[in-house]
Amino acid sequence: MAKSRKLRRLAIVLGDQLDTKSPLFDGFDKDKDLLWMAEVAGESTHVWTAKPRIALFLAAMRHFRDALRERGFRIQYASLEDEINQGSLAAQLAYDLAALKPESVCVVQPGEYRVLEALRQCVSKNGYVLEVLPDRHFLCTPEAFAAHAEGRKQLRMEFFYREMRRRHGVLMEDDKPAGGKWNYDAANRESFGKAGPGKIRQAPPFKPDAITAGVIKLVNERFADHPGSLDHFGWPVTRKHALKAMDSFIKERLPDFGRYQDAMWQDEPFLYHALISSSLNLKLLNPREVMAAVEQAWRDGHAPLEAVEGFIRQILGWREYVRGIYWHTMPGYLERNALDAKQPLPEFYWTGETEFNCLSQAIGQTLEHGYAHHIQRLMVTGLYALLLGVRPQEVHAWYLAVYVDAVEWVELPNTLGMSQYGDGGLMASKPYAATGKYIDRMSNYCASCPRDPGKATGDDACPFTTLYWDFLLCHEKSLRQNQRMSLQLRNLSRLDARRRRDIRQQANAIREKPGGDSSRLRKQTELALS
Ligand code: FAD
Ligand code: SF4
Repeated sequence: MAKSRKLRRLAIVLGDQLDTKSPLFDGFDKDKDLLWMAEVAGESTHVWTAKPRIALFLAAMRHFRDALRERGFRIQYASLEDEINQGSLAAQLAYDLAALKPESVCVVQPGEYRVLEALRQCVSKNGYVLEVLPDRHFLCTPEAFAAHAEGRKQLRMEFFYREMRRRHGVLMEDDKPAGGKWNYDAANRESFGKAGPGKIRQAPPFKPDAITAGVIKLVNERFADHPGSLDHFGWPVTRKHALKAMDSFIKERLPDFGRYQDAMWQDEPFLYHALISSSLNLKLLNPREVMAAVEQAWRDGHAPLEAVEGFIRQILGWREYVRGIYWHTMPGYLERNALDAKQPLPEFYWTGETEFNCLSQAIGQTLEHGYAHHIQRLMVTGLYALLLGVRPQEVHAWYLAVYVDAVEWVELPNTLGMSQYGDGGLMASKPYAATGKYIDRMSNYCASCPRDPGKATGDDACPFTTLYWDFLLCHEKSLRQNQRMSLQLRNLSRLDARRRRDIRQQANAIREKPGGDSSRLRKQTELALS
């Protein structure tokens, strides 16, 4: 620890705030002020966090600490291995406050309401007031979002996004959207067709250095019973890595990002995606630099406008929008359950052992890499939980635990709101409900599955298709209020009483055994191999 002279300011750096340009460093005096960072087991156990996510946070924090120390910053750093480690952020902070007795304590707004409250309470119990600094990483402040929301009956991302494009001059030509249109989504929904995705150039995984290798060993020992594997860990853990990951995406995959954004393919976990969400969320990358580089790629003629607009919409639109929703609605948002869903999350979400190939693929790669792309999260794992009727809070705990990019401000609105419709339509204008035919159209998963996406009943029926109709039957009355559901409900009205009864029966049987019969898949695989 630092020399024992009067300490002016204790500046808290959380694991997802690894940015030397944050306001924490404004006026920071290396002699008078002290940075504070802590690795605590509680942050990996409050949800049963998967190994890749734990390892990413710890490795990135340790690299950040060492880089700052090299630049002469003093840091009070609690490692997981320290004997006096207090186990939770609040307990560790209380312990250090008692020893250090700073004049003041500050933090940049955390990414999780729970953490903000825990720090506030701890600091206040110790006789201080926590100074919370605005998070400049984002382009829209919670106050600006509240002003956007003020007086609107309904919030919609598209209008927010247009405002953001205008305000920040992104992809604009004079006062008009580049190319004349705000949105090129219609060009961004292609599947790969029979030929598949072909050869895609991805940046090789970042080889663990001594720090990361030490973290991998620590996580494997200390969190041995947690889900996931570190055998292939290669996520960016420094700013240098993150910049390389961004460059590789822009050079190699951005031109095709848009058209194949929603497509999925057997044993292809990454496809044309950027793989930078964890770097953005840890603040190793700034969204402004990412958008500027992507826009430049279009201006240089390297990538088409459809891809570039589609990508910028994710960052300037969705990413900022979900953060706005989070701070606008917390803490109540966490408890919402508009569809009164009560089922438990199936066990196989933690193991990937299921007969159903699309789920086995999406969950398998999630446990292996801590990654699945948006459509896998929304239209495979999320869709299945929605149709089964799983309690949104359990679904949320899973998503927060398993993805390397999961921080509650971004994960919760996407999960509870967009994918589970738990907020009753704040995030999504209608539930993302679909049959297995959607998955069949967007991937080749069904070709290796014992089930038939076109069938709702029978031995080889697809559980998505059965549960889709059952979902409509269960919620028919409340969904009738929603104009955007009218086509789906018209199709439902064509089912006669007998068909409805058969579907309900089959749906109940699926709820008894939500992972299907995994021995059937094994047999099928053995047959295919023989
Ligand atoms: P790409 O597909 O290449 O997209 C580029 C970037 O756009 C991403 O890096 C991300 O920063 C941003 N982005 C795209 N979609 C969204 C979105 N819906 N919300 C916010 N940002 C978006 N994203 C997270 O960063 N953390 C999460 O915990 C998270 N949980 C999700 C849970 C569910 C149920 C769903 C449906 C989506 C979730 N997303 C989350 C959004 C999205 O799936 C990921 O951002 C994306 O898959 C990250 O991979 P990528 O960097 O390769 O992104
Ligand atoms: Fe998934 Fe159904 Fe296709 Fe099987 S048939 S992969 S369960 S959508």
